[in-house]
Order: sequence, then structure tokens, then C-alpha cells
Amino acid sequence: MQQYVRKNIQEMTGYTPGEQPQAGKFVKLNTNENPYPPSPAVGRAIREVLERGLSRYPDPTATAFRIRAAEVLAVEPDWILCGNGSDDILTIVTRAFIAEGQTLRSAYPSYILYRTLAEIQGATFESMPFHPDWSLPASFADMRDDVRLAVLVNPNSPSGTMVPPDVVATLAARLNCPLLVDEAYADFADTNCLPIVRQHPNVMVVRTMSKSYALAGLRFGFLVAQPTVIQQLLKVKDSYNCDALSIAGATAAIDDQPWLQDNRSKILATRDRLTESLQSMGFAVQPSQANFVWCQHADQPSRPLYEALKAQRVLVRYMDYPDWGDGLRITVGTDEQTDALLAILQSILK
Ligand SMILES: *Cc1c(COP(=O)(O)O)cnc(C)c1O
Repeated sequence: MQQYVRKNIQEMTGYTPGEQPQAGKFVKLNTNENPYPPSPAVGRAIREVLERGLSRYPDPTATAFRIRAAEVLAVEPDWILCGNGSDDILTIVTRAFIAEGQTLRSAYPSYILYRTLAEIQGATFESMPFHPDWSLPASFADMRDDVRLAVLVNPNSPSGTMVPPDVVATLAARLNCPLLVDEAYADFADTNCLPIVRQHPNVMVVRTMSKSYALAGLRFGFLVAQPTVIQQLLKVKDSYNCDALSIAGATAAIDDQPWLQDNRSKILATRDRLTESLQSMGFAVQPSQANFVWCQHADQPSRPLYEALKAQRVLVRYMDYPDWGDGLRITVGTDEQTDALLAILQSILK
């Protein structure tokens, strides 16, 4: 059978998500999940749908969500495309814009799923290294005919750093192809690129309910782009890509903006404390605009630190980027989780 599988699929490695231990008690700081429960309105909305039953197909375009989200984001509902997590949106976008032999451009190091998505298309993945200060090289906007999609994770993972919106706007004006700005962490940042979507028709912004709304298990994400783009992408998506429970839950979540603001302030306060504590232990820590920090210790290599933490049931993400270097990406947890991490690190380092 294997021989009948498309050659590019046979040759690719496939994406490996961060560890999701299903048993045992870990302090889990490896996949940037929100440590707090979501808005209580989410559970209520989902229970209401369950009581009405699941025998009918859901709304194919999640209209209720788009109406509420449009108000919150100051766009119109036809500027929004919903997906089964933002990963579904990324799949729709790559399928719509990139054919075999063409190129997807990304910065490096960044979200590695984009390589997988390019490889599924039989396309080339081109990664352009960030400068040491995590600014983009000017060559990111150099055009070639084969480059059909540029992707910028902003704030970036693993660095937590941000390319300022005015720089992104300049980039968009120079790029002769669509620019997808992955704003999975934008709710934790000081600014975002949503306003750019109006001025630059080639810009699309993708968001997720997984991180800032504490709904990684629900699977809901969305894209904001000009309506002419959304209309094309609607042809590519699965008919019922979002289920009735996730539409109801996501709508209730985005409706509860006071919950978001409260959660955000807690995470940002803990992020500051985590950053300072790690620095005082000898780590170089990138100032973060997200719900995680990227760090390296001055004289302890990262991998043994990751392993020592794991042995003590604290999971962080060890990242090793060929030709670039490695480090630890640590999610901002609750204060208790952060204290546990810091205490164990303290004992490992002394
Ligand atoms: C977590 C993450 C996503 C995926 O979010 P889902 O909505 O859970 O699929 C997308 N992009 C980046 C950069 C992420 O870190």
C-alpha cells in the first residue's frame, strides 16, 4: 500500500506535537495552555446545546460566533472564517494558496507546523532566520514568483518576541503574495496586526481560542481577512468543520471579555515574576509578549535541565533548532505551578 501514497507524503516526517501525558501528575508547562479554567459561560452554553440535542448538523459558518466576534474585534461578520482550531485554518489557507512546487516562506525559528503543511502540498518550505534581536531580515519581503504565501507568527513562538505592527504593514506592502499573521498569542501582547487587514488586502490574521480563552480541548480558531478572500477560502473548508458544541462554547467565551481581561492580567503578572526569577538564577530570558518565556541558562545546557525537570514531574518544552541553537520554552502557569518550577530549578542549579 505504502507505494501508492504520494511521494511527498512518504518522504515527509510529520509534525510531532508537544507531549500530552494522559496519566500521572505533571506540572505541565510545555504546550502554552492556559492554566485557569475557561469562562463559566462556556460550560453553560455547551450544556444548553446538549439538552437541545445533537441530531442536526451545525451551522456551516458558525454565524453566532462571527456576529459576536465581529463586535469584539471591530470588523464585520463576513470578514471572519471559523475553523476546528486555528490549525484547521492554517490547513485551509495552505490548500487554497500553495500548489505543488511553489513555496511557503516563514521566519526561523518559528512554529514548525508550517513546514509540515508545505510538505503536504508538495511545496518548498523556505525559512529565513531572524536577526539575533528577533527582528526580521529585510530579505523576508524579497519576491520570487514561486513564493505564494508568507507566514509570520506574531508574537513568535518560541521567542515570545513581536515584530511591531508598523513593520508588518511595511512588509505587507512590499510582499507580492498573501501574508498570514499567526496571532495565537496576541491577546497577551501589547498590540496586534488586526488593523492592518483593512489597509492591506493581502494580510490575513489567524487567532485561536486555545490559549488566551483556555479552550485548547474545544478546538476553535478563526481567520480575519477581507470578504473577497474569505469567500474563496469557504470553498476549501470542510462543510461542517466546526461542531455545534465548539461553536456554542467559543461564542460564549468571546462574549465574556471581562473574563479575558482578568485572565490576561493574572498571566502577565506571573509572566513578569517568572522572567525576573529566571534571570536571577542565571537565565537569559527574552522579554515575552506571549504566555510563555524562551530562555537559556548562562552555563547549564538546556537539554539536561529539561530532563532533570521532567524527572521531577515538571514538563517544559526543550527546543533544538538546527543551525540556530536550543533553549527552553516555559509556559506561564498558575502562581503555584510557577513556584514549583522555580523551587525545583533552584535545587537542580545549586
Ligand atoms: C497553539 C498554536 C496554534 C494552534 O492553535 P489551535 O487553535 O489549538 O490549533 C497556532 N499557531 C501557533 C503559533 C500556536 O502556538
